Amino acid sequence: MVVAIDGPAGAGKSTVARAVAERLGFAYLDTGAMYRAVAVAVLARGGPPAARARELEVVGAARYLVGGHDVTAGIRSPEAAAEASRIATDQSLRDALVERQRAVLATGDWVAEGRDIGTVVVPDAALKVYLVASPEERAARRARELGTDPQTVLADQTLRDEQDRRREHSPLRAAEDAVELDTTGLTIDEVVEEVVVLTGEPHG
Ligand code: C5P
Repeated sequence: MVVAIDGPAGAGKSTVARAVAERLGFAYLDTGAMYRAVAVAVLARGGPPAARARELEVVGAARYLVGGHDVTAGIRSPEAAAEASRIATDQSLRDALVERQRAVLATGDWVAEGRDIGTVVVPDAALKVYLVASPEERAARRARELGTDPQTVLADQTLRDEQDRRREHSPLRAAEDAVELDTTGLTIDEVVEEVVVLTGEPHG
C-alpha cells in the first residue's frame, strides 16, 4: 500500500510523511532528497543529471551517495534546493528517478512524498494527499528550521514553486482524486491525525 503526499515547498510534507509512516509502521520515501542528491553531485562535478541519477545510491533511511561520494551533508542547502528544481525539469532525469522510485514502492507499505507521486509515480496509490498552506506560513516554517530570514526564504520558495508548477514534465499539481489538506494554522499532530484517519488503517 502506498500513501502519496504531494504539495509545494514548505507545506509540511516531510514532517507529516515521516510521522504518518511511523504511526502506521510503513516505510518512508523522500523523493525530493533524491533530486537534491543529484543536484549536489551536478553542482560539484557537472555532467548530465540523468547520468548522475544512475550513480545514486540510497543507503539506509537517509544517506545519499552519488558515484561513491557521500552528498548527504549538502542536500538541505538553499543552493541544492534551487538546483534540484532547475534539473527537475529534465525528463530523462525524471525517468531515471521515477523508475527507481517505482521499483522501491512496488514492495511493502510506504508513505512517499514529493511533487508527482499521486500524478505520475504511483497513480493508483491507496491514498493521495495534497498538502497546502499559505506561502507566508510555509516560508516562516522553513525559516525557523533553517535559522534564516523569512523574506529570503519566501523569495526562493516562490521562484521554486513557480518553476515546479510551470514545467512541462510532471508539473506540481494535485491529482484529481487527491484529498487537499490546508495545513495553515494546524499543528503537525493535527495534520498527521487527519492523514492517518484518511488511510483507514488501524492505528495506535
Ligand atoms: O521536496 P524538496 O523540497 O526536497 O524537493 C526539491 C525539488 O525537487 C523540488 O523543488 C522539485 O523541483 C523537485 N522534486 C520533483 N519531484 C519530486 C520531488 C522533488 O520534481 N517527486
